[in-house]
Amino acid sequence: MSDKKMQVVFASAEAAPFVKTGGLGDVAGSLPRALVAAGADVIVMVPKYGTITSEYTDRMEHVADFYVSLGWRNEYCGLERLAIDGVTYLFIDNERYFKRDYPYGFFDDGERFAFFSKAVTESLQHLPEGFQCDVLHCNDWHTALAPVFLREFYQGLPLYERVKTVFSIHNIAFQGQYADTILNDILGMAHIPNAARQLRCDERSINYMQGALDYSDAITTVSPSYAWEIQTPEYGEGLDGILRRRSNVLSGILNGIDTDAWNPATDPMIHANYSAADMSGKKACKAALQEELGLEVRDDRPLMVMVTRLTRQKGMDLVTYALDRILSGGVQVAVLGTGDYEEPMRYFANKYPGTCAARITFDNALSHRMYAGADMFLMPSLFEPCGLSQMIAMRYGTLPVVRETGGLRDTVAPYNQFTGEGTGFTFANFNGDEMGDAVFRGARLYWDDHAAWDQLVQNAMAADFSWVRSADEYMNLYHNLHPEIDITKPEPVVQEPEPAEPVAVEAEPAAAPAPEPAVTEAEPAPKTEQAAEPADDAKAEAPAKAEEPAPKAEPAKKTAAKKTTASKTAAKKPAARKTAATKSTATKAAEKPAAKATATKSATSKAAATKTTAAKATATKTTTKATTSKATAAKTTAKKPSTASATKTATKSTTTKAAPAKAAAAKTAADKPATAAATAPKATSAKTAPKAAAAKTAPAKASTSKATTSSAAKATAKPAAPKATAAKAATPKAAAQDSSAATPADKPAPKAKSVSAAKRATRKR
Ligand code: ADP
Repeated sequence: MSDKKMQVVFASAEAAPFVKTGGLGDVAGSLPRALVAAGADVIVMVPKYGTITSEYTDRMEHVADFYVSLGWRNEYCGLERLAIDGVTYLFIDNERYFKRDYPYGFFDDGERFAFFSKAVTESLQHLPEGFQCDVLHCNDWHTALAPVFLREFYQGLPLYERVKTVFSIHNIAFQGQYADTILNDILGMAHIPNAARQLRCDERSINYMQGALDYSDAITTVSPSYAWEIQTPEYGEGLDGILRRRSNVLSGILNGIDTDAWNPATDPMIHANYSAADMSGKKACKAALQEELGLEVRDDRPLMVMVTRLTRQKGMDLVTYALDRILSGGVQVAVLGTGDYEEPMRYFANKYPGTCAARITFDNALSHRMYAGADMFLMPSLFEPCGLSQMIAMRYGTLPVVRETGGLRDTVAPYNQFTGEGTGFTFANFNGDEMGDAVFRGARLYWDDHAAWDQLVQNAMAADFSWVRSADEYMNLYHNLHPEIDITKPEPVVQEPEPAEPVAVEAEPAAAPAPEPAVTEAEPAPKTEQAAEPADDAKAEAPAKAEEPAPKAEPAKKTAAKKTTASKTAAKKPAARKTAATKSTATKAAEKPAAKATATKSATSKAAATKTTAAKATATKTTTKATTSKATAAKTTAKKPSTASATKTATKSTTTKAAPAKAAAAKTAADKPATAAATAPKATSAKTAPKAAAAKTAPAKASTSKATTSSAAKATAKPAAPKATAAKAATPKAAAQDSSAATPADKPAPKAKSVSAAKRATRKR
């Protein structure tokens, strides 16, 4: 073993807080910091988009410039450095390609990201002194050509020989397919038979992601189950054959979530803070949410919410199918989201006033209130690479009802009525009745067995969703590629032997604090699911009305702003807050005194110990792609290369997506029928104020390329873990067929149309 640190270049088309349109931005914003805490040196390479605010561009330092050949072109490439939280960011500067109003969706995206991939590869020769790239970690199709370029154009150079490549699939639905004219005109690879063959996906097209799958040393995706699923024709989007062939290097590593941003004990956006040790605040949150949304304020009604894109991928077909049964059966439902199913949701909100609410908007603050105020969180996805929402829900003690697919399967352990284990309610098939059954399994438990319900809530809140686990798995993966490099975690920086804070060790109690039983006196809970459901449509028309509204819960009126005093204080004293919720992230632990780090560990290990043993739960645990990204404010600009960047603090700020909390508006809305849901403007993350930057681009002509693609992110992959069984089941023959450059006839079995169609429909960018 050498003393050398693992030095990783992480290439991504987006990274929070600079630019984010989806989960990929969250991962690239969070994972590198966790990797640094795990002992790696990390440089993140991102395009220097015109939308990156001057808050960051003003602090960037120009470190190099050179030209990148792209077919017949020679394109300018500048490297601008910024260091935050121990992570060095190198922005790839070319204004012709990147100084635009949004990151993706242009006619020349194929050329733009071919350039980005080539620039990343070329940049390995221009890294800060002392940084010798061991692993080039690429993400999604935007960077998929880097492993191809590296092997075809740079392999002979000594510097590149040691570079191992990792490719992470955050969403296989977006692959970067372009007309094959690009092969010569832009990639300059038409004369390389091997490359041409491996990039070609049909007679007229090439596929960037396909190239990465063949050329990379390791492939990961965002959950172990998704890693298995994408090896099947149903989920593989045509790449399943290659993935089966390469299953020996494919693994799934769950994403983490920002456990500071999503923390019910300190969240300033919710009505009352609470923790696993003291759940009283959650009841207040529920009453406040019911009132805000115009629902009957009753604790004897389980409140189930969805915070989601309203698309087929997210299971909205099942929801609209089963909603009559669910609503008339005594379950309140509130939906926050935008997308293809806005009208159906408005329809149900109109049909069941007081029982159903729809907020057709993107509202980050409201999403926090919904995660905190609900009893159940519905996520019946058709497919789900990783999924963030279900993990956030569990962190807030809101039990998920999910379909067993992808990351949902890996993160939600089904309730076992015999052992009391589990963290939610699950169903297997994409079927509305099965989903309805799962919802009522939850509702029945809520009504009939408070102790079991409360235990489930404790289980869910004890799960470990931090990035630490994911980062460790990535480090193991890197280590497998470079066994000569030790990956021992660095000791936490001990500042001063601050007296150990005993409180920190207590973590959260494992046992539930004898929660107050749900109030049921107003109306006896239906004895059976059947009984609760209407016998006919007519009944469904006037379900909840027959019941006495008499809201008993005191309509907690405080605005989020008010009660934040306490929570803010709490947020500032992480060491003193040792509830499970306050587990610090790896990054933070590294920055804190030893005593705090200890606390973190003990909380984490405790959470781990509390995990249920239910089969599925063991498989995974964490996840969550934080919607809220942390905007870290670096105090100093990096002067030194690589890791030398000193950052003092990291302040949380809004995510690019986040809409500001509007308590007042929300209240107003609460007084109105659910249908009055305002259609607030969507804040699409990617759009930030354009900034000026020095023009340095070399002129060139935009060339080809077809449509646009985008990607959503969440990465996962289990490191060394060998492939799933099914992968192995694939015959070598079939695999060989699929991967050969081939013709459409070589493609694997036809994809499940429903899944593919849904994926297309759910493109986020
Ligand atoms: P996706 O496939 O959309 O990335 P995830 O569950 O992984 O699904 O993450 C979605 C994230 O976006 C969650 O954090 C969720 O809270 C957030 N989100 C989705 N829709 C909305 C909305 N309308 N308002 C606020 N947040 C939303």
